[in-house]
Amino acid sequence: MGALALLGSLVAKSDDAGFCVVWRGSSGIMGGGEGGVERAERVAFNEVTFRRANEMIGERAEELAVTGRVPFVCECGDASCLERVELSLAEYEGVREDARCFLVAPGHAITGPDLGRVIRSETRYGVVEKIGLSGEIAEARDPRSAD
Ligand SMILES: [Zn+2]
Repeated sequence: MGALALLGSLVAKSDDAGFCVVWRGSSGIMGGGEGGVERAERVAFNEVTFRRANEMIGERAEELAVTGRVPFVCECGDASCLERVELSLAEYEGVREDARCFLVAPGHAITGPDLGRVIRSETRYGVVEKIGLSGEIAEARDPRSAD
């Protein structure tokens, strides 16, 4: 409960800031130990943040009626990652069908108990399904879930 509330308040802050690139590279906010729950929360938090960014990119691409590939950002849990992943809107929709699935650049999947597992590995991109604690966070923070 505490974790989700914290996550909620941090994500809410990103709305004020407009965008959240600030957090990428800033280890201070969710920093701390590398192990267990804390790490799962931090990784999930980064992923959720960048999924939100991609949602905006996708919406914008739709508005502009982009037909080719769209430069999405890697949704891996590494706060310093700035990798671009080019996908068509249809491909991204395929990833986003499941609230627990995230788009990552090839080789960027962060896997493990309470972190995630690779469910798809293409030349241009990979898809990670969040499991355990981070799966719950991902689902709770899905921008597309109505409530
Ligand atoms: Zn990455």
